[in-house]
Order: sequence, then C-alpha cells, then structure tokens
Amino acid sequence: MRSQTRFTIQYAHRFYKFKGEAQYLHGHTGILTIEVSDSVNPGVNMVFPCNEIKKTAWHVLQNFDHALILRQDDPLLPAILDVYGKQGIREGAPNNQMTGPAFKTDLATAYPDCRLVVTKESMTVEGMIKIVYDLLKDKLNIVKITFTSGDNTASECFEVSRSMERCPCCGIALGPDGVCPKCGCRKN
Ligand SMILES: [Zn+2]
Ligand SMILES: [Zn+2]
Repeated sequence: MRSQTRFTIQYAHRFYKFKGEAQYLHGHTGILTIEVSDSVNPGVNMVFPCNEIKKTAWHVLQNFDHALILRQDDPLLPAILDVYGKQGIREGAPNNQMTGPAFKTDLATAYPDCRLVVTKESMTVEGMIKIVYDLLKDKLNIVKITFTSGDNTASECFEVSRSMERCPCCGIALGPDGVCPKCGCRKN
C-alpha cells in the first residue's frame, strides 16, 4: 500500500539567465508530497508512521525552508555571501536554529548556517524533485514525488523493489541490528 506525506517549504530563488520574470529574485511556498510504498506492517497496521516519514525527510528538507536557493554560477551568490559576511550572519546567527545537517550531492550543496542551497541546475519544480529523490532514496521507499510551487507542479514516479524492516511495536524503520531505535522492540 502507499502512504503520502506533505511538506510546506518556503524559499526564495531565481532562474539565472532565464528570459522571463523568474530571472528576478522571488519567493514561493512550495508543497512537496512524498509517497512511499511497502507492505502494511502487521499489528501496527501502517505502511510507515506518517510522523516518521516527516521526521526522516524533514531532517534533510528543512535545509530548503526559509532558504535562498541559487544556481552555482549565479553572480548573486558571491554578492549575497559578501553581505551576509559583513553583517556577521554568514557563519550562523543565534536564532538560526531550524537547521538540518549540511549536505553535498552532485545536484546540490546545503549551507545551513546561512540558509543557502547552491544547486547545479536552476531550482525548478522538476529540479527540486531530482534533488529530493537523490537525498532520500536510501532512507525511504519513495514511489512518487510531487512538487507544487505557484502554478507549476511536477511529479515523477520511481521503482521500489525492496521492503523496509519495521518495528512490530511502533512501525518505524529498524536499526541495522534489528532493534527499534525508538522503543527497543526486536524483529519477531
Ligand atoms: Zn519561482
Ligand atoms: Zn518501535
């Protein structure tokens, strides 16, 4: 069966060298939907607890929330970093606490200290799906990702062949030792 979880992500970006309005810096509230698939875990009667999908994905995705997302060759990037540096917020600020772990993939690099994500390609709705799948494919059995931003929506489906070992008591993914990291139950 499938289970869907929704995330709201507020971000600013622009499409560098694009010949439309989107070449100017602007912001969106994006809606990301992640659909996972697996057997229904007997006893728990869920594919995967929704709050657990949220926790697993948001850990990484919060890097995009209230962030500026710029392409790596965008000249705004050094300009913004220069301003943040002069203002003393480039390496972090006391109230910048909703940060995920820094990450670097072939498609994007997150700098949580200054709420910046630098991407290889323009961060379109299609681009976001590629980045998110790449970040989460090993953590969740993702079969579909949909991203809506303004009037644009893109979605992509993915093949899943494996099944995740889940806790028989609370349903979250078991650790490599077969023990639940949350409640300590073992695989039966
Ligand atoms: Zn936009
Ligand atoms: Zn458990």
